[in-house]
Amino acid sequence: MVDFNLTEQQEMLVELAREFADDELIPNAEKWDTEGTFPKGAIDKAREMGLLNCTIPEAYGGMGLSFLEEAMINEELGRGDPGFATITGVTMLACHPVIFAGTNEQKEKYLGRVANGEISAYCVTEPGAGSDVKSISTTAVLEGDSYVINGAKMWIGGAGYADWFYVLARTDDKDSYDSFSGFIVEADSEGLEVGKKENKMGQRCSDTRGVRFHNVKVPKENLLGGKEGGGWLQAMVAFDRSRPMLSSHALGNARGAMEEAWQYSNERMTFGKPIFEHQSISFMLADMSTKIECARLLTYKAANLLDKGERATLESAHAKRYAADIGMEVTTDAVQIFGGYGYSEEFPAARRMRGAKIYQIFGGSSQIQRLIIGREMNKNFK
Ligand SMILES: Cc1cc2nc3c(=O)[nH]c(=O)nc-3n(C[C@H](O)[C@H](O)[C@H](O)COP(=O)(O)OP(=O)(O)OC[C@H]3O[C@@H](n4cnc5c(N)ncnc54)[C@H](O)[C@@H]3O)c2cc1C
Repeated sequence: MVDFNLTEQQEMLVELAREFADDELIPNAEKWDTEGTFPKGAIDKAREMGLLNCTIPEAYGGMGLSFLEEAMINEELGRGDPGFATITGVTMLACHPVIFAGTNEQKEKYLGRVANGEISAYCVTEPGAGSDVKSISTTAVLEGDSYVINGAKMWIGGAGYADWFYVLARTDDKDSYDSFSGFIVEADSEGLEVGKKENKMGQRCSDTRGVRFHNVKVPKENLLGGKEGGGWLQAMVAFDRSRPMLSSHALGNARGAMEEAWQYSNERMTFGKPIFEHQSISFMLADMSTKIECARLLTYKAANLLDKGERATLESAHAKRYAADIGMEVTTDAVQIFGGYGYSEEFPAARRMRGAKIYQIFGGSSQIQRLIIGREMNKNFK
């Protein structure tokens, strides 16, 4: 059965997230972006309001919400400020491998710490390996009771503020998916060096840095799941489970841009009437609205499958690819509707367009989503 009605609890959650975005994110987004401020106060407030750590089970201190509810809340956070949404999203991204594969002790300790306000980061990408995750070269070698990690990670969201990292490393040099293992690494480990903040095109309040590991000793107990060889699956499951959230950020940002442009189009007069009354503008807004609706439906479908405990690789890729691409189109059209003002940083359209671009790159680029979709499609070819 397909039911498009929200429960009373879901309506309340969306309303809460919407108010938080209106009160805390929209009024501050420009300042945070211009100054590159990491909005710690707003993060803490969102957590206290129950808007973060959505899919961490209640047993470990999280909200215990569904993926669908997470998507609903995160659309509002993306509408408020996509940079803020990314910041809170990367902590959840690092928690997914722990939820999926952690031992009970690892879940209690590390998910519990996040529920109490800590920040975690997901360390997979390296300077020489992004889309091609299998080419990573960071190593973890067992020496006595510890693993010794060496290597460099790149573009790590939240690295400058993280209390612990999920790190994907090679425990074997074979060309095989079971050559990878996941580790939980404390941020204050000796030999772990966090690099300078990257100067990004958009979402400038979100902190992104490289992380280097020089003979970093990690106790054996921090091998995720207690067994070598599970890292590949952990990292991929984290992608599948986080893509609907990223889609909801992208479509929320697009919705914000569309709503702002729609408002403006009813105020701005040219040739004696509001520009909305020029059909080329109202058709542009109509197309923006349709694209956002489609992105939301794909996102909800993927989230719903995850909630049923099913594999959602194809559906998550559909949602991420589509929401990221229409996010770029819609925000670019919003700039067009604002005319010259759209090109100015004094209006939100330019910031939203800059912020939209990253969804086509991180969490698996739009090209990589197409590779996944093609691969999944062809599995059923007879
Ligand atoms: C702001 C930001 C935040 C990030 N946060 C994190 C994080 O928290 N944790 C983390 O681990 N990583 C993070 N990343 C890394 C991100 O996931 C990678 O940048 C992304 O996967 C692309 O990898 P790459 O940059 O190495 O590009 P490449 O893999 O070198 O790709 C370059 C271009 O080639 C295309 N391409 C590559 N292979 C193929 C192919 N087979 N077919 C067609 N096209 C292809 C890509 O789509 C892209 O357009 C972040 C990146 C940025 C910029």
